[in-house]
Amino acid sequence: MKSYDLRCPICGTVNRGLYLEETDGWMECEKCGNVTQSMEHRQTVLIPLILKTQSRSDNNRVDRLAVGI
Ligand SMILES: [Zn+2]
Repeated sequence: MKSYDLRCPICGTVNRGLYLEETDGWMECEKCGNVTQSMEHRQTVLIPLILKTQSRSDNNRVDRLAVGI
């Protein structure tokens, strides 16, 4: 699995050897401890997960939101 070096957006420390594909882009900074997610490495699409948990009437609303994105 490929590892990445990623700069913490909070404190600017470069965290090395991160397995972002395994964590879906999430990393915990080794210096400040903040947990952040790299949009670049995010693979999960959130919209379908929302659709599964919404009632039928809410689905129409979510569909329109998805189109807006
Ligand atoms: Zn940090």
